Amino acid sequence: MNLHPPRMWLPPDPPDQTELDAFEEQARAMRDDYAAARPARLAVLATGPALRDIDKAADCRCSCHPSPASPSLHEGGARCPCQLTEAERAELWDRVFEYTDEEAEALERREKEEDEARAQLAEAAAELDVDTGVECWAYPFVVAGTCDGRSFFLRERHGHWRVEVAADPSCTDLWGTSGAPGIEIAAGSAADLCDAGRDASPVVALRLAVRAVRLSGLRDRCSHEVPSEESHQFCRRCGTPLHEAELWKWPAPPPA
Ligand SMILES: [Zn+2]
Ligand SMILES: [Zn+2]
Ligand SMILES: [Zn+2]
Repeated sequence: MNLHPPRMWLPPDPPDQTELDAFEEQARAMRDDYAAARPARLAVLATGPALRDIDKAADCRCSCHPSPASPSLHEGGARCPCQLTEAERAELWDRVFEYTDEEAEALERREKEEDEARAQLAEAAAELDVDTGVECWAYPFVVAGTCDGRSFFLRERHGHWRVEVAADPSCTDLWGTSGAPGIEIAAGSAADLCDAGRDASPVVALRLAVRAVRLSGLRDRCSHEVPSEESHQFCRRCGTPLHEAELWKWPAPPPA
């Protein structure tokens, strides 16, 4: 179990207005420079491959212009989208969204796998008595829901995961509410979320998240039973090290 003492996650502070103004000023200067260099761009473009519309190329931000362009990108500028007609561009877009048979099969396979995973997850959720679902299958992977009345989520990305519960008990969707403060209660690496076959498993992730929410919640609420034997350093009900009891209390939500 990757439980750690709870810590508050707060939404980031709004950006500093002076910094924003400085950025805006910098951007304006760059736009001015770009506009001033237009004649020079036109002169360079005239030395490159023949273009259908040299004016559009002068205003195009694609890195294939101005010449001398890379011959490997958009044929040195001649096949840049800015040089194509509306109809030619539309045809290229159509081609982007055309699936090969192989791609269509892979898509179908993935949809089937997701359906299966969803069914397994629903089964596990019923067994654990939580209301939950996968919010996002990858980048990040997110399983979110409500456990014993508290909104929670597990989020994994770049091999790391964490579990958060809503700091405000009245928050019904911590993952879906931007800026809602959360309390991180557990974290670990992606290997913890794999099943016996070492595949990432939403069911394993859900079980781990629910266990974390329940144990952390118990440690928060427990009045701790002091053991009769003095050598025993842990609460018999929740396992909290008795000298750390305060550390395991969930922090109060910040004032709204
Ligand atoms: Zn281009
Ligand atoms: Zn272009
Ligand atoms: Zn206890």
